[in-house]
Amino acid sequence: MSEIKEISRENSSELYAKAKTYFPGGVNSPVRAFKSVYGTPLFIKKGDGAYLWDADDNQFIDFCGSWGPLILGHNHPAIREKVIEVMQNGMSFGAPTALENELAELILSNNRFIEKIRFVSSGTEAVMSAIRLARGYTKRDKILKFEGCYHGHVDALLVKAGSGLVTFGETSSAGVPKAFADETIVIALNDKEALTKAFGDFKDQIAAVIIEPIPANNGLLLQHQEFLQYLREVCTTNGTLLIFDEVISGFRVSFTGAAGLYNINPDIITYGKIIGGGLPVGAYGASAQIMSNVSPEGPVYQAGTLSGNPVAMAAGIAQLTELLKPGFYEDLNNKTKSFVNDILTFANQRNYPVNISHIGSIFWFAFDTTDTIRKAEDIDPHSMNRFKTMHQHLLNSGVYFGPSGYEVGFISAAHTMAILDTAKQAIFDSLNVVFAPSQPSSEGTALASKDDFRE
Ligand code: PLP
Repeated sequence: MSEIKEISRENSSELYAKAKTYFPGGVNSPVRAFKSVYGTPLFIKKGDGAYLWDADDNQFIDFCGSWGPLILGHNHPAIREKVIEVMQNGMSFGAPTALENELAELILSNNRFIEKIRFVSSGTEAVMSAIRLARGYTKRDKILKFEGCYHGHVDALLVKAGSGLVTFGETSSAGVPKAFADETIVIALNDKEALTKAFGDFKDQIAAVIIEPIPANNGLLLQHQEFLQYLREVCTTNGTLLIFDEVISGFRVSFTGAAGLYNINPDIITYGKIIGGGLPVGAYGASAQIMSNVSPEGPVYQAGTLSGNPVAMAAGIAQLTELLKPGFYEDLNNKTKSFVNDILTFANQRNYPVNISHIGSIFWFAFDTTDTIRKAEDIDPHSMNRFKTMHQHLLNSGVYFGPSGYEVGFISAAHTMAILDTAKQAIFDSLNVVFAPSQPSSEGTALASKDDFRE
């Protein structure tokens, strides 16, 4: 295999040096800082379709997709044109607009799991509001979450499991009062026994169980449909609300997200990312009865200066309209399946220990295993060294993956088969490098966990 030349990072490095004088760590969201991979962050100046260009004019096939929102690829003309059209009339009014109705109608008339929705400006805000709603509705305080699920930087959810089967969370960030973490119970994914025990230990105290039904923030920890169904039943029996955090999976694995895919009806669903077409939008939705508790109709306060912002609504409307076209998800999911299967075949033929979990248009490389990983604790942190090598090789070959082995990859409608073939070749080459006899194995220093450097 021929040697790959290092891409130039001169301009990106200069921008990064400057950025470090402005922002903590030089970034406005931690994982962007490239702490878990080689080199320093690439500063991006342009995206179009499946491609990104950095400040040094390097071109990349992008599998990060702004961490999920860009299911149509970068700079999609339908979104761009709608945004420009709406912007002609001003950027924000702090008063209702017809655009909010239009986006709500698009969503609610195509989603049997929620009857009313509230728009906010980020996934974090959606989750934070959903938790408050669940607590206000049930008049209980405790929340149960799963180790390996990320729900934004909500205080009560910046917690990680302790050592027992069922534990109160330990804060995973400075600045989160212990008293907050004491209201959060953390258990492992895919573990019915722990779930049953938690409901026994905290009878009539748990307001909500929150889960990413497709956990995609700490690897891709695919859950059995049967486990999610069990979760639904346990919540119903105990008067606890089930929150599906579909900030990634919503509009990604199907228009109705994981709820639709698995045919499970949660009590509250949170959305973000795709819903805003690349602009800052989040949302939470539920039955009309549960949503009637939200202010000004009910006692649970929640508000936002830029909630339902017309420009952001326009981007969401344009993107979701494309997703509703017949065959959209079938095409995208089939493309992903064939891409992943070709890579797995390549790896299997060479006995490379790699597994690629995938669902819809989401995929994740797990190294040093060929098993499907379903729990955070089953990821070997040492295997992240393999990803680090792969990431470096791919960047130098014109393929951009999110800069952490705990992050998933996304395929968009703009990734044609020809583009995917080019990317596949680079991935084959990178696997040959990762598993070359001269490469150190994954033994050695374990990389920082996803907890430390998440987006
Ligand atoms: N929930 C999930 C499942 C997420 O993946 C994320 C972000 O990655 C969030 C919530 C937080 O969303 P945001 O980053 O828009 O605040």
